Amino acid sequence: MYNNHKMYKGGTIYSPRAASVIRYSGLIIPILLITYGVLIQFNIINVQHAIDNFSFFSICFWWLVISIVQFSIPIKSRLDILLRLTAYHLLAGAYLLFVSGIASPLSGFWLLLMLGSYVYFSERGLQLSTFAFILLIAIDISLKHSSGLASITYDLVALIAILVISIVTMSVTRSQEVTKEALKQSKAQESLQRDRVITIVNNMTDAVLSVDMEGIIRVYNAASLNLLDTNDSLNGHHIDEILPLTDKDNSDISLFKEVQATKTVIKRDDTYFTFDDGEKMRLEITYSPIRSSYSRSKKSETHDGYIIIMRDVTKAKSLEEERDEFISVISHELRTPITIAEGTISNVQVMMEHPDITHDMLKDAVNVAHDQVIFLANMVNDLSALSRAERGVADNAEDIDIKELANRLHDKYSESAKAKDLHLDLDLSAKLGKVHVSRLYLEEMLQNFITNSIKYTKKGGVKIIVKQSDGEVTFSIKDTGIGISKSDQAKIFHKFYRSEDYRTRETSGTGLGLYVAAKLAHKLGTKIDVTSRLNFGSTFSFTLPEAK
Ligand code: ADP
Repeated sequence: MYNNHKMYKGGTIYSPRAASVIRYSGLIIPILLITYGVLIQFNIINVQHAIDNFSFFSICFWWLVISIVQFSIPIKSRLDILLRLTAYHLLAGAYLLFVSGIASPLSGFWLLLMLGSYVYFSERGLQLSTFAFILLIAIDISLKHSSGLASITYDLVALIAILVISIVTMSVTRSQEVTKEALKQSKAQESLQRDRVITIVNNMTDAVLSVDMEGIIRVYNAASLNLLDTNDSLNGHHIDEILPLTDKDNSDISLFKEVQATKTVIKRDDTYFTFDDGEKMRLEITYSPIRSSYSRSKKSETHDGYIIIMRDVTKAKSLEEERDEFISVISHELRTPITIAEGTISNVQVMMEHPDITHDMLKDAVNVAHDQVIFLANMVNDLSALSRAERGVADNAEDIDIKELANRLHDKYSESAKAKDLHLDLDLSAKLGKVHVSRLYLEEMLQNFITNSIKYTKKGGVKIIVKQSDGEVTFSIKDTGIGISKSDQAKIFHKFYRSEDYRTRETSGTGLGLYVAAKLAHKLGTKIDVTSRLNFGSTFSFTLPEAK
């Protein structure tokens, strides 16, 4: 009962192999039965139940028909199987009753009918087939009630044997089905669990790679491709080929060797990966051997490869290092003025005890201390401006009237320019509109340039120039001061940088002003432009879009 093209699945233990066995049995067994019947019919084998030739050949004929149909025509439907099985049962019944007799080993073939019924109609099929056999025995006993105890006993034994086999088959397959169901459920659980883990791993921002014992990549997540900036599959490649690493001195590191040597979880953040374009990425790598419960159950010491988790820490590390350096420089920069101020003030305290110290001497000393305190105050101002810019506290933009701003700055710094005999001029476009930026940042930048220009100019003057054209507003502060050499121009925006020029050294300054200004310019979406010639003066300028 097997269809090469379209197998009809009915029973519970259905398998192509079982169907194929049944198909061939359905042909061979009737042929055997016919042959055996012929031997009986022609008295070569002696059996009591010989019947007339016509009945015998009718049974043989139908056996042949059904076995050939069964063998060659594929099953189409459940009804089809039902009809075939019924025909087989009827013919087998007739054969056992009238040709061979139930008291013959051939009644064992009924087991095959039971099996076939079970395959296609599960337990109900088995039960019906068993019931048919009981019916057969009943008919047999009633037909030969006079033929003695021996043959009735044989019938009953055959019946019991069939019943036992039927019950055993049912209980065995039932327990098998329970196990199968449990297996199916645990498989479903397992695949759910697996899907969950895959979802988590794929949504991680860290790159996760799993390599086998040979270092070949077997599994990786999407973040791995992002990290390595590639779309190519990593599967099947060796980890050292995909991830050649170096240490900070540029010496090669074999990640696989490192990983192989570890027995526990190791984390390191001192490795570098170099991209094709030469850019370096600092990686934090965590790796450990994978020990599956399977290999543990084998009690073996081996494991199943390694897991590698990576993250790009280039930025975090450089920020961290920058911060450390910044704190150390600041504490150094603060120490000098504090020491001077503190030393001078304690000097003043000592001097005050002496009657012959003049008022002027005290005044000079107090001035020195005062200058240092002013310096510290400036430094704190610069630092707080820097911190404001970095935290973005004054990021909110507003419309600023340019003319009003320029005039106000001019008024504010005229006094200090005059004190140095410098003229502070204003050069504004006839028509000036507004800019839409953070007022604090813009003012801080301009003040920075103006105070620098006044500070670094000995004669001449400083000009505040604001020009508007094509929807852009350019702010420039131009002076006729000491100027900045070409090599210094590249460095003046570095933090704490002050020119070595003695004229710069004559003035006091923190070296933070332009560093802060550059940060603020970045915040405003612009860049500071410097043009300068040593001894002729400098111009600092930047451009902002005009507010609509
Ligand atoms: P500070 O003025 O406190 O030293 P800044 O960061 O404002 O620090 O400036 C850095 C350096 O750039 C100064 O020390 C000085 O050498 C140079 N510099 C800045 N502005 C001018 C200018 N207008 N003319 C000449 N040199 C300048």
